[in-house]
Amino acid sequence: MKTNPSRKTLVLNCGSSSVKYKVFEMPSERILAEGNLKRGAEQSFEDMLEEIFRIAGPDVDMTAHRVVHGADLFPASVLVTEEVMRRMESVSYLAPLHNPINLEGIRLAQRHYPSIPHAAVFDTSFHQTMPPTSYLYSIPYEYYERHKIRKYGFHGTSHRYVMGRASELMGMPADKLRLISCHIGNGVSVTAIRNGESYDTSMGLTPLAGVTMGTRSGNIDPAVIPYLERLEGIETDEVLRVLNHQSGLLGISGISNDIRDLLKIAKEGHERSQLALDLFVSKLHQYIGLYFARLNGADGIIFTAGVGENSPEIREKICQGLEFAGVYLDREANAAGSGERMISSAYSPCKVMVIPTNEEIVMARDAVELVENQPAWGTGRIAITV
Ligand code: ADP
Repeated sequence: MKTNPSRKTLVLNCGSSSVKYKVFEMPSERILAEGNLKRGAEQSFEDMLEEIFRIAGPDVDMTAHRVVHGADLFPASVLVTEEVMRRMESVSYLAPLHNPINLEGIRLAQRHYPSIPHAAVFDTSFHQTMPPTSYLYSIPYEYYERHKIRKYGFHGTSHRYVMGRASELMGMPADKLRLISCHIGNGVSVTAIRNGESYDTSMGLTPLAGVTMGTRSGNIDPAVIPYLERLEGIETDEVLRVLNHQSGLLGISGISNDIRDLLKIAKEGHERSQLALDLFVSKLHQYIGLYFARLNGADGIIFTAGVGENSPEIREKICQGLEFAGVYLDREANAAGSGERMISSAYSPCKVMVIPTNEEIVMARDAVELVENQPAWGTGRIAITV
């Protein structure tokens, strides 16, 4: 019997400004094609996906789709059925900028490839292990019961991937480790990982919460919102737009949301760029400190995503002042090299690692695993694990 057939797997990440895709040969994980199509006025979303389907070819065996918000309905990735689609739609109101486009991508893939399985992989799934002390907001409990208002967390696929790699690098099983995973890109989230599971995370009901980000504010006093409405004479939607798109590094510096620009012009003496960088590091510092407390210490800190992987300056600034918790950076290892590596000194009780994230490979692996565990695929007898 052939146990591990080669399967062509199309991984899709349909976002509001771009569509990223990767075609893998599984289980070898060889990349057959990949790309990032920017969404513009000249090409419709449907045409973009048709182009990707053409590149992927007619012999695709399965697809895997990133879905941003699964609320508390999806603790793991699932194969898409009509019931799954209905459930995903029922929580789309929690991520109106993301979920509808994710679901549209699934529908188009189903239409183009009607006889193959399609998997949905959620940003929120990894964080479904958080205890209520982490996920509840201190507001009347009925709002949680009635409207599912709670912390969900995001970047789960990334945090899950780097946790696995950290466990390999440290030579310890993930369920024996306490890790603080810092996904620092344009969006930023920090996650406390205990026993191989998410225990707490910085993003909330939406990806607006937590630390300062490229253009998002992160946590602010909620009373700021009506105050701004009154003083600026603007509606809630406009305040939310400002908090999502004009805040964070961009809002403070008034110049850019890109760390590279800010580091450069701060060195040239631009004070608000320096302030933006200092504030950014200070908020990350606060969450890392918080998670040292939540985890009662940590065995490792992970840096990943655009900034986490590529900026030795930011990593160094974040680690400064964490010596109390046993964090000793090897400055040379931090500044040199690239790719996955340990950057703490050999005697540092808490290890520091750079781990390039790879959400796509997790998505492809999940899809293969789901299909292999669902031999009834195609007969309409799919067990839904939600
Ligand atoms: P997202 O997926 O959240 O859009 P990424 O993880 O791709 O973001 O990260 C993008 C960010 O990474 C950019 O805004 C940029 O600030 C930062 N970045 C990329 N390369 C570098 C670098 N060499 N040094 C500092 N920051 C970098």
